[in-house]
Amino acid sequence: MTDFHVVAHEDDWQLFENTDIHQTLAKGRPTLFIFTTAGDAGLDIDFWHAREEGAKESVRVLLGLGREERFHNMTVTGSSSHSIAVWSYGNTTSYFLRLPDGNWGGLGFPAYRNQSTKKLHKGHIKTISAVDKSTTYQGWQDIILTLNDIIHRSCTEFNHLYAPDYDRVLNPGDHSDHSETGDAVNAILELSPIFDVTWFVGEDVVNRPKNLDQNQYALKRRVFMAYNDKVQTLSGHCTICEAPLTYEAYLNRAYSRTQMRSSTS
Ligand SMILES: [Zn+2]
Repeated sequence: MTDFHVVAHEDDWQLFENTDIHQTLAKGRPTLFIFTTAGDAGLDIDFWHAREEGAKESVRVLLGLGREERFHNMTVTGSSSHSIAVWSYGNTTSYFLRLPDGNWGGLGFPAYRNQSTKKLHKGHIKTISAVDKSTTYQGWQDIILTLNDIIHRSCTEFNHLYAPDYDRVLNPGDHSDHSETGDAVNAILELSPIFDVTWFVGEDVVNRPKNLDQNQYALKRRVFMAYNDKVQTLSGHCTICEAPLTYEAYLNRAYSRTQMRSSTS
């Protein structure tokens, strides 16, 4: 069994996914994370690099310190070849595509020429380049095929994908990068419907009742705060301070729907 988490930003799985994930990860299940964007918020490497380090710290806290770790670049092939930053720790591997943060509505940020995955998907831009200029994707299909290549390299007999819910009715008002990442995963499933998949709700959880118990909340908070504190140490930015009540609402909630596709294919 391998779990695949395909998310837009470096704190998405910690904030929005259920704590089942935290528990299976801590038990050592092979787990792959793909972060589609740098989550840069239009800022420079000091910020987005700190976010990557924060994501790594969440994994270290769950697995325990002192596991073997490795950081390298891997060539992955979509419609064209791409060099992607990869970090492995214990049984986990994290891929950082470093696409530009699309901003909430998908208009992007001037620092990265207002590029966004939403614009690419809609055909308003023809290509999109990683914020570190490591690679350029030749269209939306290149993104899908690249993600597909990464995922299929690590497939085992049973594979469970986790992604933001692409359905704008079931998951309304989400960040454009979340929804677009969900769209990309949905397209992968159309190519290859062999995965069980859990679609999780993003921003809209704040409009729903609190549904995690104290232990689930405490676990989620510990893992998120590992991210938060690492980002703050490295960049000076305190994520939870942006909107403490909203972040507390995220940490007290997790809503998702699961489709068991492998059993019906
Ligand atoms: Zn996010």
